[in-house]
Amino acid sequence: MKRDILIIGGGPVGLSCAYYLLRSGRKVTIVDSNEIGKGSGSGNAGHIVPSHIIPLAAPGVVTSALKWMLDPSHSPFGMKVSLSPSYLAWLWQFVSACSQGSVERGIKPLYELGQLSADNFARIIAEEKFDCAYQQKGLLFLYKTEKAFHDGQHEGEFMLKHGIPVSVYDKAKVHEIEPAALDEVIGGVHFTGDAHLDPAAFLRLLRERVRAMGAELVENASVTGFSSADGKVRVVRTRAGEFEAEQVILAAGAWSPFVVRDLKINIPIQPARGYSLTMSATMAMPRHALILGERRVAVTPMGARLRFTGRLEIGNYSMEPNPVWIRRIENSAREYLQLDETLDVKETWAGLRPVTPSGVPMIGFAPNYKNLILATGHAMLGLSLAPGTGQLVAELANGQTPHITTQTIHGVQSNSTTVHPSLRG
Ligand SMILES: Cc1cc2nc3c(=O)[nH]c(=O)nc-3n(C[C@H](O)[C@H](O)[C@H](O)COP(=O)(O)OP(=O)(O)OC[C@H]3O[C@@H](n4cnc5c(N)ncnc54)[C@H](O)[C@@H]3O)c2cc1C
Repeated sequence: MKRDILIIGGGPVGLSCAYYLLRSGRKVTIVDSNEIGKGSGSGNAGHIVPSHIIPLAAPGVVTSALKWMLDPSHSPFGMKVSLSPSYLAWLWQFVSACSQGSVERGIKPLYELGQLSADNFARIIAEEKFDCAYQQKGLLFLYKTEKAFHDGQHEGEFMLKHGIPVSVYDKAKVHEIEPAALDEVIGGVHFTGDAHLDPAAFLRLLRERVRAMGAELVENASVTGFSSADGKVRVVRTRAGEFEAEQVILAAGAWSPFVVRDLKINIPIQPARGYSLTMSATMAMPRHALILGERRVAVTPMGARLRFTGRLEIGNYSMEPNPVWIRRIENSAREYLQLDETLDVKETWAGLRPVTPSGVPMIGFAPNYKNLILATGHAMLGLSLAPGTGQLVAELANGQTPHITTQTIHGVQSNSTTVHPSLRG
């Protein structure tokens, strides 16, 4: 039986594509190598951050990364040492993209996709009545040092100029709105348009919703290869059998380059591993989703649970949580927040962010394949940008002009051409 749409990968992006395609009347099958709704989305920080409009590759990032690596016990950043040509090529492209021009090109698509996604989150959660600890209270950065607070304010001013709502708080105000902060915290920058939720609950509910809308969900069905002819993907081979489909969507996150190796498409993505630990509510629960400025640790209250996330390690595909870093993330949180002496940790977790050299996702038709749409490379924003991506992919698949036009979202095309400059050649 030939399917209508086959989606490879059931993470936040694949599930969101399924949701919008089903709403537009299409029939959908999702294949995933593991469990749908788990992947790298379930244990993440759950921050929905339309304020994050500066791509990962920005001027100063390489210098900061080198400085952090000189302080390995606290560094939020790490990287694999490898001479693999694809890894070295990616690093070179990333370093080249750390320029003002690249940032300026990235801001508009990230802004527009972020706004569309934030609106879509609010609409999905209200219409579908999802109970997933969704809170529209913004994202609060906490600072302990004058230097970091000053840099945070500077970044806030930059965001404000680009239409992002920002409030800056002195010590008294930050303690008034976030009583869980320790006295060492001297100020805060609040991105008031952001939100947060429990990502595992959201993905579980979305998975059940798309199933109820008629999606066929096939788990333990790792894609192993393709047959193609006349510029179209004809057959997708998986460990659970072969599938034919009118259109195929690639939403396999950090694994995307391997999945389409057969099709000779160059997808410059590296994994950036991070960790989380999730515990029962503490005595002094934070009221907001937080970023602990100097340590780059994220904090998320999720109903009766609290999660800390951190670390960005380029190049490593292992999904094992590293106990040393889990402990260091907890220790970082203790520098800013009143925490119980012993935390009742329920889960430790590792996940992979799919990072393109520019930090801008790839959304659009694949080069040379008329029926293959790429929806990958969302880096640290794969949850945040998923509902917007799902809507764009449905519009592309249905031959409509994407809601965000080719002029505004980097590389999205309404026809069958390239998505992202680095996909050429
Ligand atoms: C510590 C940490 C914190 C984060 N915090 C946030 C946050 O607060 N907000 C935010 O927006 N983002 C956050 N992220 C990033 C976000 O989790 C990712 O960007 C997101 O998961 C990417 O979504 P995806 O659907 O593209 O890929 P994934 O979630 O990785 O899903 C890809 C799916 O493809 C499947 N797959 C892989 N290979 C195959 C194959 N061969 N065949 C079939 N299926 C396959 C996988 O099993 C998986 O289910 C965080 C990430 C980490 C690690």
